[in-house]
Amino acid sequence: MAKALYLEDSYLKECDSTIVSVKDGKYVVLDQTIFYPKGGGQPWDTGKIIKEKEVINVVYVGKFSGEISHEVDWAGLKDGDRVHCTLNWDRRYRLMRSHTAAHVFASLLCTGTGALVTGNQLEEDKIRFDFSLEKFEPEILEEYIGKANELFRKDILVKWYELPREEALKIPGVIKMAEAFPPDIPRLRIVEVVGVDKQADGGTHVRNLREVGQIKALKTENKGKNNRRVYFTLV
Ligand SMILES: [Zn+2]
Repeated sequence: MAKALYLEDSYLKECDSTIVSVKDGKYVVLDQTIFYPKGGGQPWDTGKIIKEKEVINVVYVGKFSGEISHEVDWAGLKDGDRVHCTLNWDRRYRLMRSHTAAHVFASLLCTGTGALVTGNQLEEDKIRFDFSLEKFEPEILEEYIGKANELFRKDILVKWYELPREEALKIPGVIKMAEAFPPDIPRLRIVEVVGVDKQADGGTHVRNLREVGQIKALKTENKGKNNRRVYFTLV
């Protein structure tokens, strides 16, 4: 299985790789990759795979049967090719900032109101967040956006590491979206916003809350009786 370099170092913008397999000319598996595959509410990375003078666009990255597959726009890569990979860093870095922002907002809202997270999806320009809460006033959203923004002005570290499953599951609230973690994973990756939140998570994050910047609410929707959907964005 390809080594997912982004899990250890989310700031890696390029790497050298060897092509392990190519399917239908355009689905490429590498021995190691910096490209994040769509999943866990985080969109895929885009970027380039460079082979000698050929610069090939990576247009989609997904996980299929446990393998990270890079869809490219040029059918000329072969097994065993040595290539250089570069990320579309602007897109990725925005997603990292958004992902960390989403964790902080979710943690504050859930802890403060008892809301339950029912879904969330990052997009390049906004963050969608679904939760279940009986009484919801628009001011609550502003209140928790404000609280999150206070934290984004502080030097608060974000760390990620693995823990054995049993140990990880003892952390209160560590799994916000339980169905995302199949029971056969022996170790869970934890993303910890120090003093704020610990979550089992496979996404890419910034190292310090200051990097998030600030967020603002875009809109709120009611999706059924207790289900709310809010959108916010980085500013
Ligand atoms: Zn996450």
